[in-house]
Amino acid sequence: MSGRHEKEKGVNVQVLLRCRPFSDEELRSNAPQVVTCNDYSREVTVSQNIAGKHFDRVFTFDKVFGPSAKQKDLYDQAVVPIVNEVLEGFNCTIFAYGQTGTGKTYTMEGECKRSKSGPNGELPPEAGVIPRTVQQIFDTLEGQNAEYSVKVTFLELYNEEITDLLAPEEITKVALEEKQKKQLPLMEDGKGGVLVRGLEEEIVTSASEIFSLLERGSAKRRTAETLLNKQSSRSHSLFSITIHIKEATPEGEELIKCGKLNLVDLAGSENISRSGAREGRAREAGEINKSLLTLGRVINALVEHLGHIPYRDSKLTRLLRDSLGGRTKTCIIATVSPAVHCLEETLSTLDYAHRAKNIKNKPEVNQK
Ligand code: ADP
Repeated sequence: MSGRHEKEKGVNVQVLLRCRPFSDEELRSNAPQVVTCNDYSREVTVSQNIAGKHFDRVFTFDKVFGPSAKQKDLYDQAVVPIVNEVLEGFNCTIFAYGQTGTGKTYTMEGECKRSKSGPNGELPPEAGVIPRTVQQIFDTLEGQNAEYSVKVTFLELYNEEITDLLAPEEITKVALEEKQKKQLPLMEDGKGGVLVRGLEEEIVTSASEIFSLLERGSAKRRTAETLLNKQSSRSHSLFSITIHIKEATPEGEELIKCGKLNLVDLAGSENISRSGAREGRAREAGEINKSLLTLGRVINALVEHLGHIPYRDSKLTRLLRDSLGGRTKTCIIATVSPAVHCLEETLSTLDYAHRAKNIKNKPEVNQK
């Protein structure tokens, strides 16, 4: 089987900003608003008072979603084109970056439960990027006259250690501790990416199968959190969907398109600034810093066109290596709160996300 698929593209990494609405608690405490979004100008204004003087800092992004933006708005405007790229045989990554409590999980997962879908199987309005992506992929594949296969993996990275959220065995404390001792190792796959040896890869044939896997994986994540006293804000989750589509070209050649989408819910960005961690949490904080800081360095190195990109310095960047820079498409969704008590973290999230805006990707040439 052989095939050739070429596409010339030279686009920036897409960086979006989403500001959530005030929470009930923020409303009750009359928290002043410091973040104002202008969806049309793609600008976010952060108001600060320093030494009695008022300052406005304005950041521009590829797209800005204010507090009233719905899950569907964000999906239709930002994610549909990315999923179309994956269906064309390209690798893409979407990740959510921001302080804990600003809407990373709401944006990525939202309300996933199939049981709450409408009478015709449509997703609930609260469904986030992952369920909408799954739905779009299967709606497209089922509407095409081509052979295809869809595989998913779901893992958690905590302390630079990988947990397979789709592993079939029951989760117990003993099993988890045993597992931590023999971590799933990363291996180069010879194609510029890495493989996690022993990671469960599930072949799925319908959207509803993926939804139940997602639920299983999320339940496993919660159980592991409770048993090992972990904090979900300190872990990264990575849900990957790989699609193979077999097509015939007009010349009668057989073309295999292979696209992969990584959906990453990153650890809370406040972990970066809390490096002076207290005992017991020191190693953990160090390792979380390592992944988020290395991701930042990788992004900077790509922006600056440096010869050496430090992918190898953390597991997260090794895992995302085939999806950051190069010929891939990356979408960063930075999430912030509108309220004053988050100001410092909001500014650091905006700075981090803004630096990523200049990454230029190489022209696409996808050869199989
Ligand atoms: P994170 O994953 O960043 O820690 P969450 O996704 O758990 O944050 O969001 C924190 C809370 O804010 C949740 O109760 C969530 O439902 C709510 N929330 C976040 N973003 C939005 C939004 N855009 N619209 C409505 N509610 C939101």
